[in-house]
Amino acid sequence: MKCCGKCKKEKLFIDFHKNKRRPDGYKDICKSCYNQKSKTYTAKWYQKNKDKHYKDTRNNSRKCRNRLLPIKDNFLKGKSCHKCGGDSFKLVPRINGRHVAFYSCWTEDRYRERLKESKVICVQCIGKESWQRRCG
Ligand SMILES: [Zn+2]
Ligand SMILES: [Zn+2]
Repeated sequence: MKCCGKCKKEKLFIDFHKNKRRPDGYKDICKSCYNQKSKTYTAKWYQKNKDKHYKDTRNNSRKCRNRLLPIKDNFLKGKSCHKCGGDSFKLVPRINGRHVAFYSCWTEDRYRERLKESKVICVQCIGKESWQRRCG
């Protein structure tokens, strides 16, 4: 008989996995406790890999930003705000009053096309717009 280190129950040796490194030749915990442990281990492993998968998607969208952002910078070079005509504030390309968003699946060409359709506005004018909306 051997006492299981986990459930603290006396069990027959046949209920323990063999482990040559142990002095008595058996694992410290019984088979059913060991199975439970490996089950939670699998669940943890799965969780970890799900996180990793999530991280990969995030990495992908960052890669996409790195790929598409220079196109925007290039597009905005030499442009000025269509409202105030200035370019001292950060410029934002918009379509129908909405920021031109991009998706990770977009090709450079597609994003370039979208930018061509957009109107460039500076953040100061955007700020005025929302201020007017609030007070008007
Ligand atoms: Zn046990
Ligand atoms: Zn402006």
